Amino acid sequence: MKHVIIGASAAGITAAKTIRINRKDDEIVMLSTDDAVYSRCLLHKYIGGERSLKEMAFVPDNFFEANKINWKRGVTVTGVDINSKKVLTTSGEESYDKLLIASGSVSSMPPIPGLKEAESVVTLRDLSDAIKIRQKAEKASSIVIIGTGLVGLDAAYGLVEMGKKPTIVDIGKTIMAASLDTRSAEWYQNEFEKAGCTFVMAASIKAIETSADSAVLTLGDGNTLKADLLIVAAGVKPSIGFLEGSGIKCKRGIVVDEHMATNVEGVYAAGDVTAISESWPAARTQGDTAALNMCGITTAYDMAADRKNSAHFFGIPSISVGKLNADDGETELVREDRSRYQKLVLKGEVPVGVIMLGDISRSGFWQYMIKHKVPVAAKNPWKTSFADSYSLDEKGMYKWA
Ligand SMILES: Cc1cc2nc3c(=O)[nH]c(=O)nc-3n(C[C@H](O)[C@H](O)[C@H](O)COP(=O)(O)OP(=O)(O)OC[C@H]3O[C@@H](n4cnc5c(N)ncnc54)[C@H](O)[C@@H]3O)c2cc1C
Repeated sequence: MKHVIIGASAAGITAAKTIRINRKDDEIVMLSTDDAVYSRCLLHKYIGGERSLKEMAFVPDNFFEANKINWKRGVTVTGVDINSKKVLTTSGEESYDKLLIASGSVSSMPPIPGLKEAESVVTLRDLSDAIKIRQKAEKASSIVIIGTGLVGLDAAYGLVEMGKKPTIVDIGKTIMAASLDTRSAEWYQNEFEKAGCTFVMAASIKAIETSADSAVLTLGDGNTLKADLLIVAAGVKPSIGFLEGSGIKCKRGIVVDEHMATNVEGVYAAGDVTAISESWPAARTQGDTAALNMCGITTAYDMAADRKNSAHFFGIPSISVGKLNADDGETELVREDRSRYQKLVLKGEVPVGVIMLGDISRSGFWQYMIKHKVPVAAKNPWKTSFADSYSLDEKGMYKWA
């Protein structure tokens, strides 16, 4: 059996390892545009000079050799022929019995003519982007970042570490709106401001004009911002361009069932490319699930399992799971002091969301409670422990509530 995997990152690497564990003698070929294995979550540390490429790797040097994986690096897939079961690449064809598409995401670029091609404009997705940002930032006296999601703030953090003071623009009112509530967002925003960053929030961008060495943004209120370096961190979209006309069904991302199988027999997808989640842990779990199914070990992916966001800026860790704010009929329980901010969102006595910033201890516990809909202790919900939820099943065995 020959397994071909497109992509050598969180989903692809995890899948390759799982296949090798379960199928000692199967052939595994990996194809990737990336010519190094690195964690995208650490690119800001590379920009800031805190980590070398070697220190961003998440597999040992001998991973491919030790697992008998034929990794064809620096090879881009241009199409998939599902009838002849072949993958078409920039350096020829590769036949497969089972195919995993783990091609991740690409950065979105606002549809402004000339923006994508402009020398002064970069995104942050790949190592090559981080290298470009570092090189250009060294010479830049004004740096603007569009977007205050995790990627925009990662870029800002890396630049701060370089001694730069970027301006960050966002249409939203609060930073990291997908993973933090207003108060926890303020905590991080204060830290970035203390480090010299300027935020321009609730700002629409009317126009961006680019020249050889700069970009000028015109905002909705008429103000302008000039940047020697403009970093666009305005979201991502699944990397599915090469699947056009292949017969593999895509909506926003590749459509998969609970086994990570596509509509085409023998073809699976995992990671950002499925658009189910845009997180590292989810990509790994999906890669693992797809690989087990490719090996004939029927396994379902638990969509609720990975709905978690985490960040770490200026020594302050944060984690959020589930809902960030209460809707009608739900309540919020907040505790805050100088070193932490924590919030529970409760539906009745059942936690449906948690935010922990500063102190993230017991976040795994709260993730479990939310996933399994276990009610909190009525007297002091923060002090709920697993012991509160023990009960006996019909055979007299302990079980979780
Ligand atoms: C700056 C940054 C910071 C992040 N921080 C966090 C974080 O703190 N926590 C978190 O959970 N997530 C974070 N993420 C998101 C996380 O990195 C992604 O969810 C994760 O990398 C997805 O893994 P993946 O394997 O699906 O795809 P990717 O990591 O995108 O990898 C895709 C792979 O496919 C290859 N590929 C793509 N197209 C082709 C093609 N046509 N032919 C051949 N190969 C191809 C690429 O070369 C690459 O090897 C961050 C992302 C970025 C960019």
